[in-house]
This record gives sequence, C-alpha cells and structure tokens, in this order.
Amino acid sequence: MISQSKTIRRTDASSDMRKKKTRVQNKNMTLSRRLMGSPTQIWKSRLSWRIALAVFLTILTVQVSILSVTIKDYERSQISVLVESVRSAIVPAIDPVVTDPYAPPLNDALVARILANTKISGLSIYSPYLNLIHTYGEAPIITLLTPNDLSRTYRSESGDAYETVFRQDTLHRPYIMTVRMNAQEIQPKVIAYVKQTILIMLLMSAFVTTVLMVALGHWLLEPILFLRSNLMKASENPENPKIEESPFDHNDEIGMAIDMSAKLIIQNADNLRRIKSAAEDQIHKLAYYDTLTNLPNRTLFLLTLNEQSRAKGADSNQRYAVITMDLDHFKDINDTMGHNIGDAILRAVGKRLRASMPESATVARSGEDEFAITMPLNGDATSARDIAERVIGVIRSEPFKVFNEMFQVRASIGVATYPDDGIDPDQVLKNADIALNRAKEEGRDLIKEYSEDFDRAVQQRFQMLRDLREAMERNQLDLFYQPQLDLKTGAVIGAEALLRWWKPNNSKEGGSYISPAEFIPIAEQSGLIVPIGEWVTMRACRAAAGWAKAGHNIRIAVNVSGAQFYQSDIVAYVKKVLEETGLNPHMLELEVTESVFMEDIQHTIKILQDLHNLGVELAIDDFGTGYSSLSYLRQFPIDRLKIDQSFIRNALNNPDDAAIARTIVALGHSLNLKVIAEGVETREHEKFLMDHGCDEVQGFRYSKPIPHEKFDAFITTYNGDITQFET
Ligand code: C2E
Ligand code: MG
Ligand code: MG
Repeated sequence: MISQSKTIRRTDASSDMRKKKTRVQNKNMTLSRRLMGSPTQIWKSRLSWRIALAVFLTILTVQVSILSVTIKDYERSQISVLVESVRSAIVPAIDPVVTDPYAPPLNDALVARILANTKISGLSIYSPYLNLIHTYGEAPIITLLTPNDLSRTYRSESGDAYETVFRQDTLHRPYIMTVRMNAQEIQPKVIAYVKQTILIMLLMSAFVTTVLMVALGHWLLEPILFLRSNLMKASENPENPKIEESPFDHNDEIGMAIDMSAKLIIQNADNLRRIKSAAEDQIHKLAYYDTLTNLPNRTLFLLTLNEQSRAKGADSNQRYAVITMDLDHFKDINDTMGHNIGDAILRAVGKRLRASMPESATVARSGEDEFAITMPLNGDATSARDIAERVIGVIRSEPFKVFNEMFQVRASIGVATYPDDGIDPDQVLKNADIALNRAKEEGRDLIKEYSEDFDRAVQQRFQMLRDLREAMERNQLDLFYQPQLDLKTGAVIGAEALLRWWKPNNSKEGGSYISPAEFIPIAEQSGLIVPIGEWVTMRACRAAAGWAKAGHNIRIAVNVSGAQFYQSDIVAYVKKVLEETGLNPHMLELEVTESVFMEDIQHTIKILQDLHNLGVELAIDDFGTGYSSLSYLRQFPIDRLKIDQSFIRNALNNPDDAAIARTIVALGHSLNLKVIAEGVETREHEKFLMDHGCDEVQGFRYSKPIPHEKFDAFITTYNGDITQFET
C-alpha cells in the first residue's frame, strides 16, 4: 500500500513537473546522467557506433568524391605552371629577326643552355605549315602531321615527362614548337597534396562525427537509455516500478515517448496490483469460504478456533462454545428432490443460522450438510448447550420455503466447550463432532454434549474392529439359521441366515456370542462388511444347496447391507456364488432395509433389477421403520415385505402398531407381494397375523436362530403342524 501511494504521487509529480521543470531538471540531470547517460556509456552503445560509422563513412565518401575532382585540378594547375615557365624560357630565345621560315630560329648554344637549365628536356620546331625544322635534345613523342595534332598533349606513363604544343599565337612567332618537359616533381606534389587532403578529411570527418555523436547522445541516446532504464526497472518489478521522472524536454518526440511509457508503466502497475489483489481476494475466498452459503468453511473455522485460543491466553476466564450441526436425512432430500433443492435448503439454513447468531459468533459450513458455530460464552449465552438449543430452535421454528415448497428440516447437534473439553482447539472441534455422531446414532434431531465417556466408546469401537478382523482370520464367525414358516400350510419354506460371532474370553463358557446388531454397524463403517457379506452369502447358499439336495425346499434369506451395494459388485458376486453352489436362484432371497433405497435411488434400482434378473428374490427387511415412499416401492423389483418385529411385539397392546401391521399386509398384497412377519413369539401374535392374512412367519415361537446341525435336525423332525409349538 505504501509503495503504491508513492508511485501514484510520482505520477502526479510528473504532470506537475512542467511548472517546476528548471528547478527539478538540474538536479535530475546529474542524477539521470549518473544512472544511465555517462559519455563512456554512450560510446559503448551499439547504436552510437552504428550511427558514428554511418556518419563517418558518409562524410568520407562525399569528401573522397570531391577529392577525386580536386586532384585532377591540382595536377592540371601544376602542369600549367610548368608549361608557362617553359614558354617564358623559350620565347625570348627565339630570334625575332629570322626570316627564312625553314631555318631554325634558335641558336644551338642557347638551346643547350635552355636544355641544361630548365625543365625542357627536348624540343622540335615546326614551320607554320607543319614542316619539321629542327629537333633539340630528347625528341618529343608528339609529331605534328595534321592541324589536329596542334591540340595534342602527352604524358609519359610514369608521369615523369610531359609534352605540349606551343602554337604561333602562344610563342608570338611564326613557328610551332613541340616541347618535352621534365614533370618529375609534379607527381610527388600531387601525392603530398592527396595525403594532406586526406588527413584534413579524416580530421573533419572525425570532428563532425564527434560533434554529431555528442548531439545525438544528448538528444537521442540519453533519452533512449533513460527510457530503457525505466523499462528495465518496470520489468524487474512491474507491480511497483521505481521509475525516475524524465529530465528531458517533454515537447520533443522522444520526451513525449518517455512520458507516455512512464504513464503506461504506472497504469500497468496499477492494473497488476488491482488484478493481483482481486485474485488474492478470490483465492482467499475460495480457500476460506464456502461458495454455496458464503459462510466460512472448515479451514477458516479451525483458524478462528485457533485464534480464539490465542486470544484466550490473555483472558484465562474466557470460554467458547463449539457446536457442530448435521442436517438429518439431508441426503434423502438431495436424492429425492434434486441437488438444486438441496443447495437452496443449505443456503437457507446457513442464512437463518447466521441471522440468529450474534456478531461475535462464527458460523461456518464445515461439510456437505454440516455447519459449525463458535462464539465466546458471556453475557446472555453462558453455556454452549444454551446456544445449541437456540440453534435447534431456529431450525425447527418453521419449515424452510424453497421453490414454493415447504421443507421441515431437522438437525442433530454436537456440543463442546473450549477449554473445558480440551485445550487444543482442533480437539475441541473433534469432540463436538464425536458428540454429533452420538446424537445421530441416538436417533437424530437431538443435542448431545460431549462427554469423556464418548471417547471411551470410540476406543471400544476401534478395539471391536480390530477384534472383528482377527475373528474373520480365525474363523470365529458362524452362521445360525432361523426357520420361516408358511402360516397356511405350516411348512418350513425358508430360513434366515443370521451372523454369529463367537468371541472367546476368560469366562466359564470360554467365550460369548456378540450380537450382529453390535458389530454389523462397525463392519459397515469400516468396509469390512464386504468380505463378511460375501462369506455369509457363500456359506448360506451352500447350506441351502445341501437342504435342496436332501429334498427340503428351503429358501435361504441373506441380509445385505447398503455398503455392499456401493462398495462391491454384489451382482457379480451373487452370480458367482449361485454358479459355484448350484443353488436355484429362486431359493436365495436377499433382505435389504429401507435405508438402502434412500442412498442413491437410480443406482439401487439398477442393482436390484440386475439381481432380480438373476432370478434372486428380494425382500424389504424391517418394513415400516424406514422412509420408503410408496411411489418408489412400485419401482423396486420386490417379492416380499418383512414387517418389523416391533409392530408384532406391540400389536396386541398398541392399536397403532396393530394398524400398521395390518396396513403392511394389505399394502403388500395390493402390490402382489408376499408378507412375512418377524418377531413372532406367541400364539396370540400368530393368531393376529393369521386373522389379517399374513403369509409367512418367523420368530422365537417356532425357533430361535440355531446352528446348522440343529437346523438340519429341526427340519427333519418337524412334522408341518404349526400348532405343536408351545407359548
Ligand atoms: P434382522 O435381519 O431383522 O434379523 C432379525 C433379528 O431378530 C435377529 O437378530 C433375530 O435373532 C431376531 N429375532 C427373530 N425372531 C425373534 C423373536 O421372536 N423375538 C425377538 N426378540 N427377536 C427375534 P440378530 O440375529 O441379533 O440380528 C440382528 C440384525 O443383525 C439383523 O436384523 C440384521 O439386520 C443384522 N444381521 C444379522 N446377520 C447379518 C448378516 O449376515 N449380514 C448383515 N448385513 N446383517 C446381518
Ligand atoms: Mg433380516
Ligand atoms: Mg428384521
């Protein structure tokens, strides 16, 4: 935040800068020079070198082309000086009075002197009619034969000799002369001239280049280097670029470009910071908040607990309530009504909870259908239980209206207090969860306060799970069978396979049976139910196949847990068992409880259909205690309803239960299903069921669940007379 405002201030300063330009400029000039524009840096710059080279070469090329012209001029001027000196040496030597045009006008001795003392090495004299009169010294190469030859000159290849023609008008005499001159000194003069000129040119080029480079460095390179340094700073730290104010003329092109780039850098930094902070907010929201209810999630809830525990350090009397809440049968709502409704209910619950709690409370969605609340205990809320009661009150107070439908939601609540139930906040939350599980186990729609005994119960469960695993390995599991009879004929038409666990101990008997009601839930929770269930199915089918072989048509009923439907391929396994044992599929009946149907209806229907297609019969166990909706019942491929034993037990003294039992029989029959009653203990029970047309019975009246051999004995000795049983 601090660096951000600094940058913003810098932008303002840059817009303001024009006014205080001169003052700031001087100061900044030195600073920015130091930063990026030192002369060595300029001369090191590639751009400088390229420009310098280009400028240098251009100047040199121009000068060389000028030089090539001036050399010729120079040489020509040297020659004309020579020619003129020769002419002025010759003219006075010509005799002005010679009248014979064919007689040489020069005195030999004079010519010899001229040849010795001047640059003239030879000469030929012609008459005006181009007749050669005489040649002196080295004969010139030029010979005059036609008037055209009068304009000829000659230069030897080495440049040492030069020849020219002097006509009458040049000589002011009636003669023409070809003269050969010694031009040896001209060439070195020309060379010296070229050398000197080149040196001057080089110096000029270097000077011009230097001046240009200094100018370019000042007006172009320095600003570019400044721009580059700003861009580099921006790329190093785009979010918080430490760029300099431009000391350059803001009105020239490059000055404007620098200002524009600074503006862009600052804008970019602003955008980056905005994007980053928005992303951070988003990440924070995703990490710590539940997107459905906008309440804190479990992570933030735990952080809050930890914060509270730190705050508590300062105030040793402060206590906090930690409450976890789970909506009862929320899964059913989700499955039957769809996720939209489920989500809307969760949102409404979250909203109502938040509204009902004070500011000091943290209300979180801690799981799918779980909420958690923590708040300091003081003022009007002095115990965690009070708060839990308030929570359950607001949930129950009125149904939730979702998409114009009313939903009565119930919740189970676990309560713990920090630090009474643990000094570690995580542990306190765990303890609240343990209490919540207790509330769910004890029938839901309840508040349970954490007690240390729960811990013991949890430990016992873990121990039982370990023991159960061991029991499986040591073959301490056994199957008992309980007969099922046809009420009309009295015949034994089936048997329910019931699991028994013989647990050895130090008692007189050497051990005791543990009820499946005690260990089946643990096996279900741990997944152990899958191998146990497979073992039971195989064992029960083998027994039934044995009875069939002995001539007894006894259908074997095997209990199946919901977990087996979801954690294993039960269809494949049942098929394998039927193949291995050779049992007629109709002689196997699988008993499922209504809760199974509520897990995932489509998946359940599919599995039940597949099982039914194998020929296996299906019964709903403990019928009447669950939540089966009649509309679903029609979709399931069911053969039998099994009235829960509680209705039978109470049928004779509770008219409601009697009515339910009667209704189940009627319902079953109306759906073309067989109805079997379990828990039949007395003759009265039996009579009640006979009177209302129940098809089959199972109960202690006929036999308790008994070991395999005893069951064998039962079916061989039983004579089919249902009246023979006592009680
Ligand atoms: P369930 O399937 O409803 O089994 C009937 C229970 O009622 C059995 O208890 C049986 O012994 C008991 N019972 C039968 N007739 C009477 C009677 O006249 N009076 C009384 N008071 N009780 C009677 P059990 O054997 O203790 O089994 C309890 C539950 O454990 C079973 O209830 C079943 O849900 C589960 N269970 C048993 N074996 C298995 C199994 O192999 N797999 C699975 N998944 N669950 C099993
Ligand atoms: Mg059963
Ligand atoms: Mg039952």
